[in-house]
Amino acid sequence: MPLNLILMGPPGAGKGTQASRLAQRLQVPAISTGDMLREEIRGGSALGREVRAYMDRGALVPDQLIIAIIEGRLQRDDCSRGFILDGFPRTVGQAEALDRALQQLGWSLHRVGSLTVPTDEVVKRLSGRRTCRDCSTPYHVSLDPPSRHDTCDICGGTLQQRDDDHEHVIAKRLEVYARDTAPLLDYYRDRGLLAEIDGRGKHDDVLAALLAHLDVPLTAQTIPVA
Ligand code: ADP
Repeated sequence: MPLNLILMGPPGAGKGTQASRLAQRLQVPAISTGDMLREEIRGGSALGREVRAYMDRGALVPDQLIIAIIEGRLQRDDCSRGFILDGFPRTVGQAEALDRALQQLGWSLHRVGSLTVPTDEVVKRLSGRRTCRDCSTPYHVSLDPPSRHDTCDICGGTLQQRDDDHEHVIAKRLEVYARDTAPLLDYYRDRGLLAEIDGRGKHDDVLAALLAHLDVPLTAQTIPVA
């Protein structure tokens, strides 16, 4: 059975960072709907033009749109051993659609991890966040700066601030999370799938807690590269 995981948490909880680390460790793809949408915007597609207005104001894009994107993505070959979803589902409607899609594929969810971080901390993280334009690696101006100003340590790409990481949009995203996404915690808790993990602390410690609480079988973990 593929190792199908979901990472949840408010904006700024570290889902993207931990999803890529988990993905590397488990050799399954990290699927970020936010990154997929930003890619569409960058490529100038019709879909990109449609979603931009929602994203720039911190609103969710319509369920039917994002559900179609995810359904297509899960059918790609690289998901055959499992996947880590980051940023999906974000509404109960999306969670129900995911359940249906998984059922059709004959799969189920292994676990859902929710990263918890206090609101004042996520605001600090998001307002100082910078992301590599080319490989999406996240940095922070004071908490996790790159070695060269505005330059990605990994690929040398230029770092930029996301359009939705400005203070008034951050407030809106947190409001949307509390209203539309937080109810999903109960959805997965009721199904016995939810694990809540403290998202503060060092990246490696959060990753270790995730691996333990998501009941990831040791056989699924590759040896980390030092
Ligand atoms: P964050 O979790 O920090 O808010 P994301 O990159 O996951 O960042 O999402 C950025 C934006 O992309 C959201 O505010 C929303 O507009 C859009 N988005 C991403 N995933 C979804 C989704 N599953 N449903 C609706 N909108 C989404």
